[in-house]
Amino acid sequence: MSERAYSKELKRIVTASEAVTLSAEGKLKNSRAFNCCDKKCGIDLTCTNWGNKDGIRKYFVPSCNDELHVIGCDEVSQRENVEQIGREIKEIVNEIEKNGIITMLTSPDRNTKENGDSEDKVETPKGVNGYAYKDNGQEKGKKSESRRAARVEAFVELYHRKDVDQKKRIIRINGNMYSLEELFISSSDEPVDDKMGIYFGQAVINSSFKPGMLEIQFENSKLPVIYTNVNCLKKIRNGSRAKKKIDTNDRITVYFRGSFKGKKIIPFNDKNYKDLCFGE
Ligand SMILES: [Zn+2]
Repeated sequence: MSERAYSKELKRIVTASEAVTLSAEGKLKNSRAFNCCDKKCGIDLTCTNWGNKDGIRKYFVPSCNDELHVIGCDEVSQRENVEQIGREIKEIVNEIEKNGIITMLTSPDRNTKENGDSEDKVETPKGVNGYAYKDNGQEKGKKSESRRAARVEAFVELYHRKDVDQKKRIIRINGNMYSLEELFISSSDEPVDDKMGIYFGQAVINSSFKPGMLEIQFENSKLPVIYTNVNCLKKIRNGSRAKKKIDTNDRITVYFRGSFKGKKIIPFNDKNYKDLCFGE
């Protein structure tokens, strides 16, 4: 639910209540002609209570039920973010119960010009914005049918569920199949070059030499420091808990998804915070 969106008809940002008023006056025609106004997201949005000025709840929702805001979209409230994570967890657990597989996908920032006043704006092909739960174009009954999931939190939840087989290869990443046991790598293990996984362990969080940046260092580990911006913590599960640990030397469980490469960990996504979360 977003409070505001970019109107393709007006070519500017409007609030939901303004859009509803304009629709009742006939000045806006199409309830679906909106985009998320965070330029790194931009998914298609639909306005609720269209044409009904007396409606109580006015906001914008994703036009396609299965298309979500990109991870870290600034137009998504913290509450909605928690709901999105919860929904993704539920979907993938259901899929596992049906003996399905989960495809791990990235949630890249949209790399186009800012919405608005760009007349030469290229229409982004469907499926490029945000990310979707379901495989598009799948054939019913086909074995390759799978559920998609992008959130590192969803995989962490799966890993901790007692009723999910840790040894069964149920996760597909870039065409390779992984079991949960293979995917999750303890931070105390000797890092292996090019190994993709979700690294986890106890870590301390300190302010970096650069203002606003944090350094996350796993304890008793050869893994390199992970950098993130303090403002990104509010977009991450248990980020507020992590914030309280900054410069205290208190430990917290950290999960980070990526590949170890030449003394660095390269995130799975385009930003570190999209692959980072904290334990309870
Ligand atoms: Zn968005």
